[in-house]
Amino acid sequence: MDCIFCKIVEGSIPSKKVFENERIVAFHDIQPAAPVHMLIIPKKHIPTMNDVTAEDDALIAELFAVARQIASELGIAESGYRLVNNVNGDGGQVVYHLHIHLLGGAKLNGLN
Ligand code: 5GP
Ligand code: ZN
Repeated sequence: MDCIFCKIVEGSIPSKKVFENERIVAFHDIQPAAPVHMLIIPKKHIPTMNDVTAEDDALIAELFAVARQIASELGIAESGYRLVNNVNGDGGQVVYHLHIHLLGGAKLNGLN
């Protein structure tokens, strides 16, 4: 499958990983939009949030748990951070493998 994040999961494209278990991997975004910019993804190829089903409930919860853990480990839990999931064209999604952006390390601009 021609999916850049599946290739990162396989290791055929290199990435700076900060977390990995049997179901999830987290790594530095290649074009950081903030001092901290990690991507947290399921190893399972799910194209967008629209494709998530009830059987993925535990996996989605674990993505957020990993985000919390990384924020805590990086020391930005108290200062604050932002979790973002872009969906389809209007949402600005570019890579069609589900991912949560973890952004922080500075005061972020408002969304609107
Ligand atoms: P989206 O707009 O789909 O929510 O975000 C995709 C993100 O993936 C972007 O922030 C982009 O910089 C990042 N990205 C795209 N290709 C690669 C890559 O090959 N490696 C890494 N580490 N990040 C990537
Ligand atoms: Zn994929």
